[in-house]
Amino acid sequence: AAPVLAATDLVIEYSTRNGPIRSLDQATLTVGSGQIVALVGESGSGKSTLGMATGRLLASNAVYAGGLLSVAGRPVYGPGAQGGEGLRALRREVLAFVFQNPVAALNPTMRIRRQMELAGPAGREARDGSSAAEALGEVGLTDVPRVLRSYPHELSGGMAQRVGIAMALRRRPRLLIADEPTAAVDATLRAQILNLLVSQCRDQGCALLLLTHDLHAVAQHTEQIAVMYGGRMVEHGPTAEVLGRPMHPYTRALVAALPGEERPGRRLEAIGGVPPVLHAGCPGCAFAPRCPDALPNCRDVRPADAAVAGRTLTCHLHPGEIGDPSAAPNDAG
Ligand code: ATP
Ligand code: SF4
Ligand code: MG
Repeated sequence: AAPVLAATDLVIEYSTRNGPIRSLDQATLTVGSGQIVALVGESGSGKSTLGMATGRLLASNAVYAGGLLSVAGRPVYGPGAQGGEGLRALRREVLAFVFQNPVAALNPTMRIRRQMELAGPAGREARDGSSAAEALGEVGLTDVPRVLRSYPHELSGGMAQRVGIAMALRRRPRLLIADEPTAAVDATLRAQILNLLVSQCRDQGCALLLLTHDLHAVAQHTEQIAVMYGGRMVEHGPTAEVLGRPMHPYTRALVAALPGEERPGRRLEAIGGVPPVLHAGCPGCAFAPRCPDALPNCRDVRPADAAVAGRTLTCHLHPGEIGDPSAAPNDAG
């Protein structure tokens, strides 16, 4: 079966008064059916751009500038890309989103009951026959009748995010994009909400792409991790292996900067140096100006993807294993 998400060398730029900002610079990522995948990287690395690109939901100044993106086998960017009704069907039938601010993601003027009904398949109960009330029960909300009667502003952040998760999964999507789903939730509830999100996706066989800064959450909940830097994937593989033995210098810096239990608030920005300037897309490795291990050609020559130790690495230090056929240069496209 086609992967639920397949991005290959995707380039997306935002046009601005100061010229284009290349927020995805040949980004490549595959999410298999039902997989739980984390996409991590510091602020501005392109996570949300990739997430929103899946539904062609980017800001109006976004410009597609190359590569391919398909969702459940349907082209979204590139040759044969869906538009109009095809795109609406994709958003309705395949994709769902959970955002950082749960209250803002809901319609402020409509009671939850009506929004839950509208989130289900048109004019019917959800495909599994569950009512709005049952769906809210499943996400651990207790006083369901009260929640159904409420307007969004009457809910706490944690309750609203539970409603958001129930609503997102109501149409049985194949891919849920969760963009920092717990960042705006009270810290004491974060683990619960994330557990809920992951377990609901697992139960439904829905793939989850979790966009986050929180490596602890990633380590606990995801099967695969993709690390982004400057609009590119730099390391992608099984979560336990990548975090247990990070190989790309950027991933190593992230893991080294991981907060201990006593410093839960520390974020990825704790690593040294300044984030890359994304204007033109840089010729070499985007991490070179901050990389402690940079080689002489790193600023000029872009590293290729290579299969190393069960993962995909994009770094001149790791050009690929001899005898590993998947490390051969890919000249098919
Ligand atoms: P964060 O962790 O802060 O959410 P992110 O990894 O999600 O960051 P994006 O939001 O995808 O990053 O942004 C990638 C780059 O594109 C950043 O440099 C950002 O400033 C820029 N960008 C995003 N949206 C726009 C826009 N509409 N116009 C211009 N630049 C934009
Ligand atoms: Fe560092 Fe060079 Fe690897 Fe980039 S390609 S991460 S600069 S060693
Ligand atoms: Mg973002």
